[in-house]
Amino acid sequence: MRLILTFVFLTCAAVSIIPADNSALQFRIQKLNGKEYVSLYEICRDGEFDQGIDPVLGRGKIYKKTYVAVYQIDLSVILAGKELIKSDYPVRRGSDGEVFIPADSARQILEIMLEKNFSRHGNYFNEDKEPKTVIKKPVDDDDVHYEEIDFIVIDAGHGGKDPGAVGKGGRREKDITLAVCKRIRDILKRELKGVNISLTRSKDIFLELGERTEIANKLLRKSKNGLFISIHVNASISPKSSGFETYYLSRDPTTDDARVTATLENNVVILETKKKHHYDDIEFIEALMLAAQIQKESHILAEFIQKNMTSAMKQSHSRGVKRADFFVLRGSLMPAVLVEIGYITNKKELNLLITPNYQAVVSKAVAGGITSFVAGYNKLVK
Ligand SMILES: [Zn+2]
Repeated sequence: MRLILTFVFLTCAAVSIIPADNSALQFRIQKLNGKEYVSLYEICRDGEFDQGIDPVLGRGKIYKKTYVAVYQIDLSVILAGKELIKSDYPVRRGSDGEVFIPADSARQILEIMLEKNFSRHGNYFNEDKEPKTVIKKPVDDDDVHYEEIDFIVIDAGHGGKDPGAVGKGGRREKDITLAVCKRIRDILKRELKGVNISLTRSKDIFLELGERTEIANKLLRKSKNGLFISIHVNASISPKSSGFETYYLSRDPTTDDARVTATLENNVVILETKKKHHYDDIEFIEALMLAAQIQKESHILAEFIQKNMTSAMKQSHSRGVKRADFFVLRGSLMPAVLVEIGYITNKKELNLLITPNYQAVVSKAVAGGITSFVAGYNKLVK
């Protein structure tokens, strides 16, 4: 499996002396089902870490200065700083919701994030009196190697048994998105020679949300770098709502409206018959390492597309670039955005969206944003 990022650890170049600290830290080791753990609550309390957890996904982060550690309940791999820490048994959640980190992993996290050494004394990890003299420098952006974009996946929202939003006259989101996506594909094929352009679906078929990004991620394994663009039509209980907007993935949606739109698009999950999205350890960790960089790039891509739409789609109006938690973007290992090209529940916009003329305007605008992004990006990485 291919990774876009290569990490370079500068062990010898970065030798620094950490001054001795008067208050020696101590962390308690407890037994849970016969295995040794350290309570995350106690790590955060005594080590003065900040933390956050997504209780639904069972994923959490702890923070200290510039360091972040990411864990997932029931997984035995943790990312701390830029290091992967593996244990023989997984992170667990107690009956009261308290999180427990495998003891050996806890010690490594503490050493990395506190820049101190810890030794075991009975049922405690005690901070060493000797200051830690050699530390690994956290990897910065200069050590990340980017690759040029050589494929783009265009995803027509909904399809098959899932019509998406339905407007007056039985007009369906899935038909509009497919028509627009085919046009975007045709434009990109003309404009971006040497870049592989594909659709997640070219017919009226049902695809699960996980399958959509999986198509893109599979391409990533045999290509250099790619983009994932999902096209949708918005809906609202208010017939007055109108305009277009571009989203990139975030766990922290910008507005309540963004949350509603995300809920709407994510509803399709209940139509899915296959098992819940399953990420194995490797995929999860790869996703973690790439997540921060991908989010940055996705945001830039969203800005390019939205800006182009704003200057080209004069019959509608911009609702801006937004962050939201879309399932379809969640599994992506490359920059990914979701574009809502207008409201199917708005009479004026629906009438525009179903005409080939306006579909051509929208496609040109979206494709223009993509080509500008790719041109700039590929120039930068060469
Ligand atoms: Zn949709």
